[in-house]
Amino acid sequence: MPAKPKHPCNHIGCTELTSERYCPQHQQDARRYDRHRAGAAQRGYDARWRRYRAAFLRRHPLCAECERAGRLTPATVVDHIVAHKGNRQLFWDPDNHQPLCASCHNRKTASEDMGTWM
Ligand SMILES: [Zn+2]
Ligand SMILES: [Zn+2]
Repeated sequence: MPAKPKHPCNHIGCTELTSERYCPQHQQDARRYDRHRAGAAQRGYDARWRRYRAAFLRRHPLCAECERAGRLTPATVVDHIVAHKGNRQLFWDPDNHQPLCASCHNRKTASEDMGTWM
């Protein structure tokens, strides 16, 4: 069986021969770079969300879960009632948002994670 032709790694200055785009070392770097870029896009998204969350919590300052249980606890988190799982529409849907305190939110996300394990 003929081996795939080898050529120098695409990384500038690297002379390692490889049949892929990059030698194993630079393949790892390229993957890390992709992740880094994804993180940058995520940050733009986060800035918009932070503004939205601050405005939402001003309008809904109390934890909805605690309020149902008759406790008045300041909300610090805007929770997605239905887990958005990366769905932007669900993520930004105001009907899908509720104010929660950190401990209610942690309890909720913990049980959601449990759900995905099963
Ligand atoms: Zn290389
Ligand atoms: Zn709460």
